[in-house]
Amino acid sequence: MECIQNKKNDQAEDQPAPERPKEELKLPSAAQQVKNFAGSLLNHALTGFGKADEQTFNDRLNVCVDCEFYIADIGRCSQCGCPCATKASWKSSKCPVGKW
Ligand code: SF4
Repeated sequence: MECIQNKKNDQAEDQPAPERPKEELKLPSAAQQVKNFAGSLLNHALTGFGKADEQTFNDRLNVCVDCEFYIADIGRCSQCGCPCATKASWKSSKCPVGKW
């Protein structure tokens, strides 16, 4: 006998996830990405490689995941090109559009 809840879950998994228009989410140029990431890394180094506390990290990442600039399939920000999980874990990091 099949569990009704499992059947509902299976049906939900069959539904395609809503997608953002991918053509609008492009990374900056490679040179700009290097410049942006290097700047963040330099600040991270100059502040003693401080790590964000767990709550801050989770809050930041939740904002990223819901952000219109987040490229979900690669986990990166289309504004700066940085990997959001890495950047959110650095205490000194700042969102390029001021969301965190
Ligand atoms: S860093 Fe800022 S702009 Fe980039 S995805 Fe996260 S919240 Fe959005």
